[in-house]
Amino acid sequence: MQQLAIDKTHDEARQGEAFAAVVSKPVHTGKYFYIESYGCAMNFADSEVVASILQDAGFCSTTDEQNADLILINTCSIREKAEERVRKRLTEFRLMKRSNPGLVIGVLGCMAERLKSAFLEEEKLVDLVIGPDAYRSLPSLVEEANGGQKGVNVLLSRDETYADIAPVRLNSNGINAFVSIMRGCNNMCSFCVVPFTRGRERSRNADSIIRECETLFNEGYREVTLLGQNVDSYHWINDDTNETVTFAQLMEKVALISPLLRIRFSTSHPKDITDDVLYTMKKYENICNYIHLPVQSGSTRVLQMMNRTYSREWYISKVDRIREIIPDCGLSTDMIAGFCTETEDDHQESLSLMEYCKYDLAYLYFYSERPGTLAARRFEDDVPLEIKKRRLQELVDLYRDHSLISMQKDVGKVFKVLVEGHSKKSEDDLHGRADNNKVVVFPKENYKKGDYVTVKITGCTAGTLLGKAITPSAP
Ligand code: SAM
Ligand code: SF4
Repeated sequence: MQQLAIDKTHDEARQGEAFAAVVSKPVHTGKYFYIESYGCAMNFADSEVVASILQDAGFCSTTDEQNADLILINTCSIREKAEERVRKRLTEFRLMKRSNPGLVIGVLGCMAERLKSAFLEEEKLVDLVIGPDAYRSLPSLVEEANGGQKGVNVLLSRDETYADIAPVRLNSNGINAFVSIMRGCNNMCSFCVVPFTRGRERSRNADSIIRECETLFNEGYREVTLLGQNVDSYHWINDDTNETVTFAQLMEKVALISPLLRIRFSTSHPKDITDDVLYTMKKYENICNYIHLPVQSGSTRVLQMMNRTYSREWYISKVDRIREIIPDCGLSTDMIAGFCTETEDDHQESLSLMEYCKYDLAYLYFYSERPGTLAARRFEDDVPLEIKKRRLQELVDLYRDHSLISMQKDVGKVFKVLVEGHSKKSEDDLHGRADNNKVVVFPKENYKKGDYVTVKITGCTAGTLLGKAITPSAP
C-alpha cells in the first residue's frame, strides 16, 4: 500500500500519534488515559471528542503509555495496511498487561465497528470495543471493564453528532483546528468501507459549529478546517425556526466570525459541490482557495463500477467550472490504481485525466479490497498486485512532475501566509501555509505564530515554497 503526498486531512506523519491535552480540566480522579490515533482527520477530531468525554469523567491524558490506566486506539479500516498496523500495536499493548493486569485496553473507531466482538471473543486483544457513534458510553464501559467485564458498544446512530461536546484540543499548535460538521456517509462508493463503519450521513447543528469556531477564534486559533466525508451535502434544519443551512451558508456564517479566521474544508464529492459554494469561496477572502476533489479514476467505465455517479467528462467540466470561478484555486485529488477489471486503457485514462487537471496535490493508492463492501461482494479483485503497484508508480511519477511545475509556477508570486510555527529545519525560519494550501518557509525576523505575513516567493523545493517577508498583511 502506498499513500503519497501528505496534507492535514490524512497526515501519514501523524499516524499512531499519542495525544496530550493542551489544557486539562480540573476534576481528576488520579486515572490516566493514553490515546493513539490512526486514519483520516475525522478520526483525529473524534479523539478530541473522546478526550473531552474522558476528562469530564475525571481522567487525565498522558503521552506515556506506561503511565496509563486506560489505553485507547482510535482506528481506521479504509485499507488493509491500516488495520495491520493497528493489530501490531494492540499486540504490543496486550503484553503490557502482564506487568499491569489492571490496565484496560480499548479499540475505538472504524475497525471496532467493522470487527465488532471479534476483537473480544476470537482475538482476545482488548477489553473494550467502541464504535464511532458510541463514545458517550465510554466512561460506563471503562467502569464495567474495571470490574472485570468486557464491554462492547458498536451501535450506529442516525442522529449522534456530539454537537454539545467541546472537543479537548490535543497536540495542537494553537493555530489550526479541525471542526466536524457532519458524520457518516450516504454514498455507496463500491470500494469504500466508510458507510458501513460510520453509518448514515447526518449534519451537525449549525449553531454549535459556529459557537465552536467562535470559541476557537477567541482562544487564538486562526484557521478551522470544516470536516465531513462529503461536506457539500451538509444540510441542517433548525427545528425552531425552520431555517435550512446549506454548506455554502454554513461557510459564510463561519467566514463572518472574523476576517482573521481562515476557513478550509474537506472532503468535497464532485457530484455535490455547487456554484453556490464556489461563489461563496470567491466572495470571502478568508475562505481558502483550495479544493480537495477526489476523482478515484479517469475512466468512466471504472467510475461507474465504483458507483461514483459521475463520468470523466462530468468531472472535467466541474474542474473547468472551479477554474473559471476561482482561477487561482489549489486543487487536489484521490486516485485508486488497479480497481477491479481496470485495463491498461482505463489506467491510461487516469493518467490523461491527471494530465488535464494538473493537481497541486494527489493522494494515490492502489486498490485494497475491503470485506463487506459492494465491490468485494460483486467484483473480483482481479488486477495482480505487481500491476497495481506499477500503475500506482506511474500515477505517482506523473503527479510529482505536476506538483513540481505547480511549485515552480509560484516562484515570484506574493502570498499571504498564516504562520503555524518554526520551520522543522531551523529555529530562524518560520513555516505557514498560503491560501492555496502550499507550505511556505521564510526567515523569522520579528514575526511569530498566528501572524499573517505577506511573503514573496523566491524559490522552491518539491514540497515547499521558500520566500521572504515583505510587509505584514492587513487582514
Ligand atoms: N469521502 C471522501 C471521498 O469521497 O472522496 C474520501 C474518503 S476515504 C477516507 C479517502 C480515500 O481513500 C478515498 O478517496 C479513496 O481514494 C481511498 N480509498 C477508500 N477505500 C479504498 C480502498 N478500498 N482501496 C484503496 N483506496 C481506498
Ligand atoms: Fe467512502 Fe464514497 Fe463516502 Fe467518500 S463518498 S466516504 S469514498 S462512500
